[in-house]
Parts: sequence; C-alpha cells; structure tokens
Amino acid sequence: MVATHATDLRKALETDEIVPYFQPQVELRTGLLTGFEALARWQHPVHGTIPPDVFIPLAEEIGLIGTLTRKLLHKVFTSAAAIRDAGDITISINISAIQFHDKSLPEQFQTMARHEGFPLDRIILEITESALIDNMDQAVAIAQDLKALGIRLALDDFGTGYSSLLHLQSLPFSELKIDARFVREMSDTRESRKIVAAVVGLGHSLGLNTIAEGIETSAQADMLLWLGCDCGQGWLYGPPVPASDLPSLVSSRPLGHPGSLFGRTVPSDALPNLEAMPAQRLAQLQAIYDGAPVGLCFLDSNLRYISINKRLAEMNGASIANHLGRRVSDVIPDIFPKVESYIRRALQGEVFNGLEFASPKRDAQGHLRTLLLSYHPARDEANEIVGVSVVVIDITERKLSEEALRESEDHYRHSVELSPQIPWTSDAAGRILTAGPRWETATGWTPEEALGQGWVKALHPADVIPTLRIWADSRRSGNPVDVEFRIGRGDGVWRWMRSRASPRRDASGNIIRWYGTVEDIDDAKKAERALRESEALLRAIFDAVPVGILIAEMPSGRILMSNPRAAAIFRRAIPIGENIDIYRRSNLFHADGRSFDQEEYPMERAIGSGQPTRAEEILYRRGDGTRAWIKAMAAPVCGKHDAIVGAVLAVQDIDETRLEKEELLGRIAKLERQLKARS
Ligand code: C2E
Ligand code: CA
Ligand code: CA
Repeated sequence: MVATHATDLRKALETDEIVPYFQPQVELRTGLLTGFEALARWQHPVHGTIPPDVFIPLAEEIGLIGTLTRKLLHKVFTSAAAIRDAGDITISINISAIQFHDKSLPEQFQTMARHEGFPLDRIILEITESALIDNMDQAVAIAQDLKALGIRLALDDFGTGYSSLLHLQSLPFSELKIDARFVREMSDTRESRKIVAAVVGLGHSLGLNTIAEGIETSAQADMLLWLGCDCGQGWLYGPPVPASDLPSLVSSRPLGHPGSLFGRTVPSDALPNLEAMPAQRLAQLQAIYDGAPVGLCFLDSNLRYISINKRLAEMNGASIANHLGRRVSDVIPDIFPKVESYIRRALQGEVFNGLEFASPKRDAQGHLRTLLLSYHPARDEANEIVGVSVVVIDITERKLSEEALRESEDHYRHSVELSPQIPWTSDAAGRILTAGPRWETATGWTPEEALGQGWVKALHPADVIPTLRIWADSRRSGNPVDVEFRIGRGDGVWRWMRSRASPRRDASGNIIRWYGTVEDIDDAKKAERALRESEALLRAIFDAVPVGILIAEMPSGRILMSNPRAAAIFRRAIPIGENIDIYRRSNLFHADGRSFDQEEYPMERAIGSGQPTRAEEILYRRGDGTRAWIKAMAAPVCGKHDAIVGAVLAVQDIDETRLEKEELLGRIAKLERQLKARS
C-alpha cells in the first residue's frame, strides 16, 4: 500500500500537483517587501489542497523528500523570475531534517540555482532545530559549505525546542525566526513579551536578522517593532500565494502596514528611527540584556566583571553593583576553581560551547542547579582579545522535567502491560518513540517497524491521508486524537483499529510527548455492521407486512415505531414519540357501540395479563368524523429479566367487509320488513 502512495505522490510530482506558494516577508519599520518564504502545497484532485505537514512526513517516510524538494525548487526558481529580477528580494526555502544529513545538499543547490540563473546569495534555507539534533558535526560541515556558497541559514521556529541557544552558537546562522506561538501569546502574557524581547536582543547581539512569524494583527506588528524585531511575516502582510501572483506583489511593494506605534498610524517621517535615538536604544538594549532568559556577562583580561545582566547576577546571588569591577574569584569563590581554566583558555582564543556544569548552588526549591556554560573570546577592532563573553543557561528545570518524564514513562510502561490496549508514545513532532509488544500480535508488524513514521506503512491506502491529517490537526491544536483506520499485513486482510492519544506538556505548556493507545475494534465494527444489517432487514419486513403495527413504550405510552400500513389505516402520519392515547381516547367503540374503559384497551389487557389478546373487531372514529372497522390484537414486549417494557398493537383494516356485511344485513332487514308488511 506504501507503493500505491509512492505512486500517488510520484504521479503528483510529475503532474505538477505539488507547487510552491509564496508568503511575503517585510521589514517591520517600513512595511517594505524583503523576501518570500516558499511553502509547498499539494493540490490533490480528490482530497483538495493537502497541507505540507500532512504530505512532507509522508514524502520523508517513503524516501521521496529529495525528489519532492528538487522538483519544488525547480518550480520555485523558474516561477520566481519576478523575484530574480527584483533587486534584493530573497527566497526562503524549508529543508527537512533528513536532507540536512545529505552532504551533497550544497552542491545540489549550486547546480540548480546556477541553472535557473538565481543568485545564491539571495537564498535562505530555513532549518528547524529537530533537523540538527542527530549529528551536529555533520550539520556544521554542511552549514559551512552552504555558507561558503553565499547561501544564508535561518533557524526556524526559534524558541520551541530546548537546544536553540546551543545551535545558535554552533552554526553560522544569519537569521532567527521567532515562532508564531510567541507572537500569538505576546499580547496576553508578559512572559511571552519578555521572551520575544530577549530573543530579539539575543539575535542582535549575535548579529542576526530577526523575523517574527504568524503576525496577524497590527497590534502585534507594533509591539514587535517596538521590541526591536527587524522583519515580519503573517496574514497581516499576506497569505501564501501562487507564483502567478508574484509579479503584482513585487511591483506593488510596500505591502502596507508600515510601522505604526501602538495602533496610531504615524506618518513615516515621524517613525522612530532607532539609530537616531541612542539613549532610547541603549535603554531598550539594557532592558533586553536584563530580560534575557540566559545569564550574560563580559569579563576583561584580568577576570573582572565589566558588565553583567540581572539574570546572571541573580544566579550568582549578588546585585549587579556587587559584581562590576570585582574579580570572578571574589564574587563566586566556590565556582571559580571549576571554570577558571576555561576562562583563561578563552582569553587565548579558544571557544567553548555548552559545557554542562553541576553548580554547587541550590535553587529556591533546594534542587541542585545544572548550568550550560559558554565562553567566547571577545576581540577589539584590531582583533586583539580584550576579554571573554560568557553565556550561562540554567537547564535545571529541563533536567528535572526530563527526569520526571523518564519516571512517568517507566510507570506508564508498567501500568499498561495489563490493559487490552496497545500503548504508544510519540514526540511532539509525531514521531513514534515506542509501541507496545502486542502491536505485533494485532497487526503483524513489529513494534520497531512502527517507530518514527513507520506505522504509516501498515495503513490501508484510503486511510493514510485522512489519518495523517487528523494526527497533524491534533498536534497543531493540542486536542486529543481519536481516529479509526484499517491496518493490514499486506495479505489483503484489513482490521479496523481505533487510536486515541493525549498530549503531555511541560511546565510552560509546551507539548513534549503524546501518550496513546491502539485498540483492535474490528470485531466490534463487524458486530455493529451485522446488527445494522439485521436491523435494516427487520425494518424492511416490518414495513412490508399487510398489517398495521404500532409499538409503544409502557407505561409512558410513547410510540417507538410504526409502519406505513398503520398510517394508512388510521389515515394520518404517526410521528415517533406521539402518545398512543390519541388512537383510543373516546375514539374506540365495541362492536355493540359501547365505549372502551381504560383497562379494556387491547394494549392494557396484554400488559395486564402478560399474554397476547384475542383479535377483536373495534369501531374506530377517525379525526374527520368518519368511522372504520378495524381488527386489533395486542401483545406485551418483554425487556431484560422478562419485565414488560412495552406493547405492540397489530391492526387490520376490515372496514370494507364489515361495512358490506352491515349493508347486507341492513338490506335483509329491509327485505324482512317489506315481507312482513306484505303478509
Ligand atoms: P513553517 O516553516 O513554520 O511555515 C509557516 C507556516 O505558518 C505556514 O504553514 C504558513 O502558511 C503559516 N502561516 C503564515 N502566516 C500565518 C499567520 O499569520 N497565522 C498563522 N496561524 N499561520 C500562518 P504551512 O504552509 O501549512 O506549512 C507548515 C509547515 O510545513 C512549515 O512550517 C514547514 O515546516 C513545512 N513545510 C512547508 N513547505 C515545505 C517544504 O517545501 N519542504 C519542507 N521540508 N517543509 C515544508
Ligand atoms: Ca519555515
Ligand atoms: Ca516556522
């Protein structure tokens, strides 16, 4: 079935169903267009537009991501003539984790861009952190080759992973993309605002261009501008558009919303020119420096504090004033011996990134702190080393949550071993990390084969896209997953499964794991289908019998079911839920014209005796005043434990025969009277 999808996707590539869309990126201060991010779209003839987070994982899974990107890039470059000819407009391209392990990537770009005449120095590759985790050395090598070609790198979704700061230091990024989540939350929570400020500050201090994603309102744009963010992207400036829209977008730049501060649109010559306001700029930088979620300081060659931010001062347990001008050995005598050699070596030009360090100081909760330390030599214009720049990241919380996670995973493994459901876990990106041993019994595929995106191979072809779509939606929204799909061993036999999962979040609300189960619901599904089928059959029989039937719940008298014949006999539609009383109250008469007492009604008698009643002839007066003869009999309906829960009434229309008989009798009586009169 994977083959079917591979064919589907391959065909989609050949028939141009997968195309790049382009979303504008602008300079926040002026609203001027700076570039476009290319985003893949699959225009499926049956399923409509399929978003990339559904088919990119599929392409990765079946090994088509390379071809897909190549085809897509070809289209990006050819359809981007409008961009190529427009000065300095850049194109940002997303690269999958898998591809960032491909040593030939730089060369591929070089060949392709040259062939299409697109300048390499206007290409930006967007990489998410998950792309870098596995093999850092190789990632660094590839990144350096790309950089040598003039291609720029952007760290995508910044702030959503744990090791962002490490990656920022180790790879030659030129751009930092602030994740849409922070932008979204920025207007509501002070923390998010602080994080954005700190990230922008961090970006600037590393000489990076900062670009915020997912800007939807002008209030967000204003706030980002105020916090010093350079560029933006989002619906406010325009959604991703097809290539055919590029020429008009490029020629009509700017894209609107040039900086307005806090909702007031200001004339562009009154815009705060940040360079022109050094005092304000400095205050802003100081705020960012202090607000950064990392400890920062600068030491001179005598190992004295020249500057330090609030965060690091707090970690060291002393005020900023108590640091400035003093030696490290005096301020933190207990830590100094352990870090001295790194500082001295940094003064000799060595770079240290992310040294994990157990601090002897405890935090407020009494936990031992784990710190990540980086030491970089700082040079003056003449390239002389004048000091050391220090970054301290407190990863205690992360360590604790990793431990808690490990613990709860153990607990989880033990407790689910007894349940009929097959447990699984996945990371935040939806890659399966573990699958219970019974997965194999239920599906014929080993748990190992289910890992990553492997489980997709086992799905029924028709269920692949709907299932991946539901799964992607849940990952985006954080809502629990509940999805049914068929799984097969490749022998044409499919079994229905139901999978449910919910996310586990860390202290700051980010999803770190999905915990789920798969359950074989095939038997239940089949039973349900069989039940539905026999119900339909029964219904058909019921509708076809030449006898009117009414079933009522007792004692409420609510009608549960009736057939068309009953409606024909009573000459009115019989709505479900109507009370049976309407067919008897003062409308039923014995053959001798006497009206019925309550306990004489056939249904009441059937319930009272627990036995079916004998068929009897009843005169029924319809709503329109006409009368009809019916033959009626009733029987009790028994539920569980033989309790009577209702009654069924069967009626036959005997009106004609009965009226004929009456007429006949009438005629005979008349004849008799005439005979008598004669004699
Ligand atoms: P991303 O790189 O973070 O792309 C930004 C996503 O945010 C896009 O979703 C975009 O349409 C959406 N977006 C843009 N403006 C706004 C806004 O104002 N508000 C909100 N709520 N969303 C906005 P899209 O196109 O569905 O792409 C999803 C992800 O798929 C991308 O996330 C990227 O990681 C991946 N992707 C897209 N195209 C490719 C590709 O060609 N290759 C690879 N490897 N991955 C791709
Ligand atoms: Ca991106
Ligand atoms: Ca992104």
